[in-house]
Amino acid sequence: MASNLTDRLSRLVKTMRGQARITESNVQDMLREVRMALLEADVALPVVRDFIARVKEKALGQEVVGSLNPGQVLVSVVHKELAATMGEGVADINLAAQPPAVILMAGLQGAGKTTTTAKLTKHLIDKRKKKVLTVSADVYRPAAIEQLKTVTKQAGGEWFPSEPNQKPRDIALAALDHAKRHYFDVLLVDTAGRLAIDEALMAEIKELHAAINPVETLFVVDAMQGQDAVNTAKAFKEALPLTGVILTKLDGDSRGGAALSVRQITGAPIKFAGVSEKIDGLEVFDADRHAGRVLGMGDIVALVEQVTQAVDLADAQAMAEKLKTGGFDLNDFLQQIAQMKKMGGLGGLMDKLPQNMMGNKQPGQADMDRAERDMKRMEGILRAMTAKERAKPALLMDGKTKASRKKRIAAGAGVQIQDVNRLLNQYDQMQGMMKKMKGGGLMKMMKKLGG
Ligand code: GDP
Repeated sequence: MASNLTDRLSRLVKTMRGQARITESNVQDMLREVRMALLEADVALPVVRDFIARVKEKALGQEVVGSLNPGQVLVSVVHKELAATMGEGVADINLAAQPPAVILMAGLQGAGKTTTTAKLTKHLIDKRKKKVLTVSADVYRPAAIEQLKTVTKQAGGEWFPSEPNQKPRDIALAALDHAKRHYFDVLLVDTAGRLAIDEALMAEIKELHAAINPVETLFVVDAMQGQDAVNTAKAFKEALPLTGVILTKLDGDSRGGAALSVRQITGAPIKFAGVSEKIDGLEVFDADRHAGRVLGMGDIVALVEQVTQAVDLADAQAMAEKLKTGGFDLNDFLQQIAQMKKMGGLGGLMDKLPQNMMGNKQPGQADMDRAERDMKRMEGILRAMTAKERAKPALLMDGKTKASRKKRIAAGAGVQIQDVNRLLNQYDQMQGMMKKMKGGGLMKMMKKLGG
């Protein structure tokens, strides 16, 4: 596998220590690496070009102060720009319509429309307490209608029957009528896909859209589609006023560059990500986390930024030892957070970073508050664990009693089980990254980053 962007940039950075500014000449090489990383993550070429131009504009002339170097500052600019391009806060499903709120699912065959329709049904039932009806307008594949029936049942929703000899428009109108008369809150309309874009398909879905006037028109796209996602997105965007995107199969190998392409082409927010084949494998899309994935850096960027500032060398050395031997546990994680707090929390850390690190935008108070809240939540979760659980996270990840333990911790910290899972995932990811960095651990990484 290709080495990640942090590695590559740090290699370059070695040759340019002591430079205090990102300039036209040193930015070229770095941007070439960023460009390659994005292409490797399967972001489409035209989208990469636009993106690089924006990053260049933001990065040029940035001051490089404190213990940061040009590579780190650039990574930071890139990361922020990626997250900003892909998201704008949390975009949940819009149900603000005279009930039933109609949601139209569009996308190619195999993108995951039917599966996602069921996942969304479950989400709306569990999280939003809605009464949900589904219907399939896929008259070309009788199996698709049956599939929707099965998965809707699994999701706890109701399914409206349709027949291959009906017109998609008539099916949707009949379902809408049924939904109205039986006081459903939401009607989800699954549609036919084709293996590739074709005119007849687009005409059909346009007609369907006009007939049922959905409050949400969601474009379902497979993250593994990579470069092709652009053409698909373009075609659907031309045919329909898309209100959101659901990116499926993010649990696969893909680095998820499709997110950037699709967001840019459709202009619609990415609302959810599919992360497994199972009915509960749907997550609210988190642009910030996803930006790290696209760059091949994961959450480690943030961690390194914090660590290089907050931990002194002796601590770092001890930590490096632990990482190398795989002994970095959740007690250490908690200690890290305590260390950060000593430094004045995130606010204190931000003060040490270049004022204009985020381009023209100052870090907004809202961003800071959110980050501060996240950290507090993490600390709360860690403190709700027993010392034994922190010392042996396996108890929570693959132990027999993990479910009841997590439930107890979530209740103790006043959070959802997902929050506990997210923290464990982050920890797991961190460990994975650390193990990959042959024999060096954090110390080496810090050195590589030129701290
Ligand atoms: P449709 O043709 O667009 O309705 O696609 P389906 O819903 O039938 O999904 C096609 C395949 O993708 C099925 O095997 C699904 O189980 C799988 N799938 C859908 N979403 C996800 C996901 O988020 N992760 C994984 N791993 N598989 C998914």
